[in-house]
Parts: sequence; structure tokens; C-alpha cells
Amino acid sequence: MDRPVLDHRSAEFAELGHHCINGLKTVFRTESPVLIFPSSATGAWEAALVNTLNSGDHILGFETGHFAGLWSKMAGALGLHVEICGGDWRHGVDAAQVEDRLAHDREHDIKAVMVVHNETSTGVTTDIPAVRRAIDQAKHPALLMVDVVSSLASIDYRHDEWRVDVAIAGSQKGLMLPPGLSFNAISDRALDAHKQSTLPKSYWRWSEMLENNARGFFPYTPATNLLYSLREALGMLQAEGLETVFARHARLAEATRCAVRKWGLEMVALNPAEYSNVVTALFLPEGFQEQALRALILDRFNMSLGAGLGKLAGRAFRIGHMGDFNELMLAGTLAGVELGLELAGIPHGKGVGAALEYLAHAAKGK
Ligand code: PLP
Repeated sequence: MDRPVLDHRSAEFAELGHHCINGLKTVFRTESPVLIFPSSATGAWEAALVNTLNSGDHILGFETGHFAGLWSKMAGALGLHVEICGGDWRHGVDAAQVEDRLAHDREHDIKAVMVVHNETSTGVTTDIPAVRRAIDQAKHPALLMVDVVSSLASIDYRHDEWRVDVAIAGSQKGLMLPPGLSFNAISDRALDAHKQSTLPKSYWRWSEMLENNARGFFPYTPATNLLYSLREALGMLQAEGLETVFARHARLAEATRCAVRKWGLEMVALNPAEYSNVVTALFLPEGFQEQALRALILDRFNMSLGAGLGKLAGRAFRIGHMGDFNELMLAGTLAGVELGLELAGIPHGKGVGAALEYLAHAAKGK
């Protein structure tokens, strides 16, 4: 990243632009356009909504966690009518509920369904193909919008095969970059919706972005240094192979859960089929505060753990195991948590040993 900034109207820049856009398509597993915005992922949430919908449109959101809630709140602020399907923050989106709700919408009043693939606040992953099947079973034309902010390039995601209409991502998670880039992967149906959509948009307007992207350029000054780093990250993912990257995350996540079971702590996620491979959220026993444990571990061992977000604040903390992460980094992470539990006087078993045992077993099986 630490290189001189190119003239973003030069032929050399166009090569970088084409390279990044085409490389991202392989990560999203799509033949359709992928757009890059200089913004955090929240910007790409807004881009997804304002580019496809009209003021007052009825859309479905799900109470699956903090980020799903923020996205729904944004949709409301943009003048959309958001119907929230209730949830307990411990499960993903219930495909049966989606099918039932859409089947009852005979007038096709609902224009979009907004799902977070991996809820970073709870460590729960929703089965997107099941949601797709539910929409198909209900024979409903609603657009399927999926937040893949913390799943992309870490957990299997197939934009075209799963017929997702708009996917939203950011640079700072599985792509291993600093924050500052966001992405929309779009479908032909989303592009058609874009042509009709009347919600106000300017900075986020897809059509201008697409026109410029066709020549490798952007309508305004791009985050050039982040594009250098994106080119590098795409090369790293290609060299390792996406399947190997997904398997590495699955292995490290399972090792984390081995430790959690031995510690005797309760995971936020309740359904093993929905356990996240990039983040594990854990409750502390009654009488202990996550802020105090995290502060102690940061102070004593210089390791930063994820806070309990939204209604999990105070009660749960999160162990991140995503992106550029390996066995020894995980071993250090889990050791830091275990030392923290010990120093904070939180009753626990010996989790690190269980995680190492699992990792050794996995390594022998290779
Ligand atoms: N969606 C999910 C699932 C996230 O985890 C985050 C941030 O962590 C966001 C959206 C918002 O992204 P940003 O903070 O980059 O705007």
C-alpha cells in the first residue's frame, strides 16, 4: 500500500482498476459486475438500497443481531417501510418464516429481503441457499440482498449460484485489508431494478460507476492505495485457493469451539449448523462483565477481543478468527483468553489443550 499514488486517469491506473474488479468477481463467484466504493461497508448497504428501491417500498428485515438491526434502521431512515421478522439473536434467518411471509404476500408488495450472511455480533451464519429456496418456493419476485461483510473470502459464498441480487461487503474482514473499501456485487435483476429506482442517489449511483468501470476507472477519486492492497490480497487468496481458505477458517473455528466447550462457557449461537467460522461469541457466567475481562486482557497481554454489541453488551465477548489467521495465532489468542479467565477469577476448564489436540489431529489427517 505504501507506494506513490498513481494518476487515476492514467493507463497504468486502468490496469489496476480492471485487475481489482475482475479479481473480486472470482471471490464473489460471479460473472456480473462488482462495484468498489471508497467507504466503509455501511456505505455499500446504502448503495444496495438506494440503487434498487423506491421511496415507501415494503421490505423485509430480520432481527438476527446488531448489524441486521443497523441495516434495517438505515432502510427506515431512507424512507423504506421495513417489516422486521422477530428473532432471538441466537439463530440465523429462518427460511420457513421467509417462505411463509412471502407466500402470504399475494400482491407482491414486498420488494426486497435483507439478510446478513454472517452476523458478526453473534457468531451466527445464515444458510443463504435455504433463504433462496424459500423465496423460490413462494414464487416471489422480491430481490434478495445479502450482507457478506464478514463472510466474504472466509466462508463459502456463491453469488451467481445462489442467485443473490445484491451482496454487500467491506475490505477489512476476509479480504485482510484496512477499512476503507466497500463492495456491491449485483445481478441482472438488480440492474433492471436500478433503472426503475427513484430513491435519491448521487455518490452511490451504480450507472455512473459502471460506465467508468468499463474503462478501468472510477467516477471520482478512488482509494488508490487500498486498491494496491486489494490487488495483493486477491493474489494471496488466489495462491492459497478459496476452498483452502474456507477449510482453514472451518478448522480454526472448530478448534476455538473445542476450547470454549472445555472452558465451560456458553456460546451465543445455539444451532451447530449455524456456528460461524469467522467469529465466536461467548457469554460470561452471571456476575461477570465482558468489558472488565476484555480490559484486563488488553492491559496485561495486549490482545484486543470483540465487545458485546447491542443487547449483548456486558454479557458476551467475541473471539475473531478471520482473514490472515493461522494455527499459532489462534493458539496465542486462546491462551490470552484462558489467562484472562484465570486472572479475572472466572471459573473455567483447560480449553487451550483441547484446541491444540484438535489442531494436531487435523494436521495429522492432512
Ligand atoms: N455488516 C456486518 C456483518 C459487519 O460486521 C459490519 C461491521 O463490522 C458492518 C456491516 C458495517 O461495516 P462498516 O463498519 O465497515 O461500515
